[in-house]
Parts: sequence; structure tokens; C-alpha cells
Amino acid sequence: MSDLNPDSLLSPSDAPRQRTVRGAASFSGIALHTGNRVKLTVLPAPADSGVRFRRTDLPGQPEIPALISEVVDTRRGTTLGRGAAQAHTVEHLLASINALGLDNVMVEMTGPEPPIGDGSARPFLDLLRGAGAVEQEAPRRFYVVREPMWYEAGETHVIALPAPVFRISCTVKYNVTPLDCQYLSLDIGEDSFCRELADARTFCLYQEIEYLMKNNLIRGGSLDNAVVIRQDAIFSKDGLRYPDEFVRHKMLDMVGDFFLLGRRLRGHLIAIKPGHPANIELVRKLVESPG
Ligand SMILES: [Zn+2]
Repeated sequence: MSDLNPDSLLSPSDAPRQRTVRGAASFSGIALHTGNRVKLTVLPAPADSGVRFRRTDLPGQPEIPALISEVVDTRRGTTLGRGAAQAHTVEHLLASINALGLDNVMVEMTGPEPPIGDGSARPFLDLLRGAGAVEQEAPRRFYVVREPMWYEAGETHVIALPAPVFRISCTVKYNVTPLDCQYLSLDIGEDSFCRELADARTFCLYQEIEYLMKNNLIRGGSLDNAVVIRQDAIFSKDGLRYPDEFVRHKMLDMVGDFFLLGRRLRGHLIAIKPGHPANIELVRKLVESPG
């Protein structure tokens, strides 16, 4: 018996159960990369079905499971794909599902990516809370980190260590004046996520969006849904929501990306300058080991 798994001490009736949403809930908005209007609906789903995206705008309404095996791109957000059907920029929604303790949710979309909202997780949290939550019969499934695992690339390091809870410690640093080194460490649960991470918005460096705008890759992008950092200034609609909003958004993204394990992570993630590519590579390594 592992001393890292407190649930193994519980009788089956006490073990945490899976949860799904109580009813359907929808919201509509502009998608970041396509600029199109899209409607997203969350619906209850059976135990052990996990989170699935259903493209209701495509013939046959194909479904894509939110699992690491379906990740096809990590360049500007995490993209899932199966055949011709894709679901882009799924991380903020998945982070909210993870943080609210939901295990099984059907997500219907009328386009290839969720509405970007204000670039944070807040619209998804509000949507899911509006849908409510209900316990299911099946026990919740965990991925328990049993030994250190890591992924490194250049200045990026993402490390998973054994721990009795899901915790993230993150450091970011960019070579632009307004964005000094930021560090935060948090146990991830519904309360801490809602209070400390959920409002942190997507951000990008000015030199990056110059390229993206010229190549028409962020047609829905504006200061309504992102913070832009230039060498000498920060551009945003209403200032910063937290003094260290950037490290908080990186942690929000990690809560979403690591949900692609298909189980709840129990372990401590230590991340230095993380991003979707490194997050996803570490998730791949984790699923290849027993957990
Ligand atoms: Zn993000």
C-alpha cells in the first residue's frame, strides 16, 4: 500500500466519487484564433466517460476525448484533434472543470474552439457553477506521482514530485522590463483556483502578436481578452488583476493541461518558465509510467 495515497485507507463508501454537471448550460462568444462566434454547451456525461468535445457543426457530430493521446498542437494553446475534427485552446475550460472537481462532462461546440471570453477561466467557472454538480456512483480516479519525473527544454523545466495533494509551484521570467521574475506556489483546489488563478488572463509579448496579426492567426484577439507586454509597457483593458497575473495564468494553463492525464493528478508540479509544449511533454511521460 502506498503511503502517498490516503484514499487507500478509506472504505469504498468513503472514497471520493466522480462528479458531472447537474444540467446543461451554454454561453456564446468570439473564438480567439478564428474570430468566429461560437456557442459552447456543457452537458452531464456518464461515469468514466471523462471530458469529451462534440463538434455539433460538423457532419456526424464527431467527438474528441480530452486526453493526452488526442493532442495535435501546442503552439498557441492546447489543441485536440481526431481525424478532421479539432478542438483548439481547450486549456481554460479544462482547468475550470478540473478545479471544480468535475470528472465527466460533454462539451458541445458549434466551432473549432471555445469562446475566449476575457482570456481567463472566469467565464467557464461561471458557466459550470451555473450548471451545478452531481455525484456519481463510480470512484474518482487519481494519477499519483510515485517518483520524480521531469521534462526540460532550454530554460524550461517542469518537474513532477510525489506529494499528498495537487500543488503547483511556478516561476516565470521574460526579458522585458515590466515583467520581472514572478513566483507562486499553491495547493490547487476549488477555493484556491477561484480566488488565486481563475481571473488571470492570457498574455502575450508584443513582438509575438505582431507576427500573429500579420498572419491572421488571432482574428478574435483584442485587449478585451489578453494582456500585451511590450519592452517598456503593459497594455490591458483595466490594468492588472493581480500584480503577478502572468505567473498565475501560467498556473491556470497547467491546471488545464495536466487534466489531460484523464485522471486527477496527485503530486507537486514545479515549473520554471513553463508553456503548453513542456506541460504536454511531461503529461506524455507521466501516462507512460504506471501512476
Ligand atoms: Zn492560457
